[in-house]
Amino acid sequence: MTENSENCIFCKIVDGSLPSSKVYEDEDVIAFLDIKPVNPGHTLVIPKKHFKNIHDTPDELMAKLIIVTKKIAGVVQDKLGVSGVNIGMNNGASAGQLVFHTHIHIMPRYGKDSFKLWLGKEYAPGEREKVAEKLKSALE
Ligand code: AMP
Ligand code: ZN
Repeated sequence: MTENSENCIFCKIVDGSLPSSKVYEDEDVIAFLDIKPVNPGHTLVIPKKHFKNIHDTPDELMAKLIIVTKKIAGVVQDKLGVSGVNIGMNNGASAGQLVFHTHIHIMPRYGKDSFKLWLGKEYAPGEREKVAEKLKSALE
């Protein structure tokens, strides 16, 4: 929606100028219910400080977001009686990111709903090795 923290709806949720159904808060992180849930209990975990997505979010903060996500996912699983939980993060417009403030989705799954996982496609011959080598050499 916006890449500017002044007009960012999640920054407004953090400062309280937009209402939210908050379920968790600490000094760095808040979590609240998504207004258009895959299922009831769909929760967004966000840093209080504005970052665009995973790429500009500091490592320590990403680590903290994941730890909080794990804690909330456990509570969602135990207290909402769900049979599974998808954890997701959309980074970039082509990945479906609509709100450009870092957030992790916790999506409770009950079996039948609108959520679709990806369908894998085949690599061309030799392509997988080339892609793996490109990534591996950049990660060394
Ligand atoms: P994404 O596509 O990963 O950027 O997802 C953004 C999510 O934010 C969507 O699932 C929206 O339903 C959700 N959302 C947008 N505005 C609000 C809001 N005011 N309160 C709670 N969730 C919101
Ligand atoms: Zn923001």
